Amino acid sequence: MQLVDEFRDARLAKRIRADIEELSTKAGADETNPLQIMEICGGHTHTIFRHGIDKLVPRSIEFVHGPGCPVCVLPMQRVDEFLELAERDSVILTSYGDAMRVPGRNGSLQQCKAAGVDVRMVYSPSDSLEIARKNPDKQVVFFGLGFETTAPATAISILQAAKEDIANFSVFCNHITVPPPIRSILEQADVSIDGFIGPGHVSMVIGTRPYDFIAEEFGKPVVVAGFEPLDLMQSVLMLLRQIVEGRVMVENQYSRVVTRDGNPVSLSALNEVFETRPSFEWRGLGEIESSGLRIRKQFAEFDAEERFGIGYGSSVTREGYRDQYPCGKVMIGKLKPFDCPHFCKDCTPETPLGALMVSSEGACAAYHQYGGFQ
Ligand code: SF4
Repeated sequence: MQLVDEFRDARLAKRIRADIEELSTKAGADETNPLQIMEICGGHTHTIFRHGIDKLVPRSIEFVHGPGCPVCVLPMQRVDEFLELAERDSVILTSYGDAMRVPGRNGSLQQCKAAGVDVRMVYSPSDSLEIARKNPDKQVVFFGLGFETTAPATAISILQAAKEDIANFSVFCNHITVPPPIRSILEQADVSIDGFIGPGHVSMVIGTRPYDFIAEEFGKPVVVAGFEPLDLMQSVLMLLRQIVEGRVMVENQYSRVVTRDGNPVSLSALNEVFETRPSFEWRGLGEIESSGLRIRKQFAEFDAEERFGIGYGSSVTREGYRDQYPCGKVMIGKLKPFDCPHFCKDCTPETPLGALMVSSEGACAAYHQYGGFQ
């Protein structure tokens, strides 16, 4: 297939693999002391397992699967709070499909839908806006979820609702941002990541500049990567070149899509509608400072937290809830999915117990689907 085949060329992959092997040896890595490379984005985790890149690279390279799947890190409390809205009269809940299976304490959106709750799957927040236009006697609440990739679409839907004065549309905002959890991981003393593969889609919006602190403050190289197998192979090679040559910087392998300063239209919509929360809870990781977005007061009428008096408080601080599963340790590379006693036993994609089994981009779901557990 044109435009895809050239990123899946097996001969090129073998050549890059040979270069990776040579450089990782020069870097002093071997299978007993591998270089740990964290891919931040769940899309990259999926590509790595789907195409067997973890097996293709030499054993001197170990991938650590970071917290880059927004569905996986969504705290249970937020699912519960969203579902509680359905107990009010005349409310239609709308959500992206991948959030439908996230378990809350009283079930997932999908299970509640099966039990009769009016939860509708949408492909975009503008679909949700259309449902609001067609149902003026109902309150339509969209479950805003995702990183800087999906947040602009939510922002634009709020701007559109304000422009049309649509009074029965609001957003339950759970948008989060990528740089703060990377800082949080790097500040943990016992985490030893040698380099980062930066997210492609998020960087399309925010650019590569927001990752400068990783190189400047923490001395770790970053390469923003595309999603095809050769993109990832080349990104590993670029990281190794930095390590061997003693350079530490943010490089951009995905230059066909990503720029240094990001997408100004998306960034403008984001800044107009959202502000940073003091902190936000990440399932499995706990509270992370300045890692969430909330709707500005100027747009309060479209903020479900304001409209329904929900108020943000994490499940950790409010109810003493802690994720009893070791998903957080998998996300920072301290454990592999197969180290978890629940993996492929009582925790499967059909019956996810923990965060990383819910979405196909979660590390445990990827291991399960592509046989990483073997
Ligand atoms: S197998 Fe399930 S419970 Fe264990 S780390 Fe993975 S998602 Fe979490």
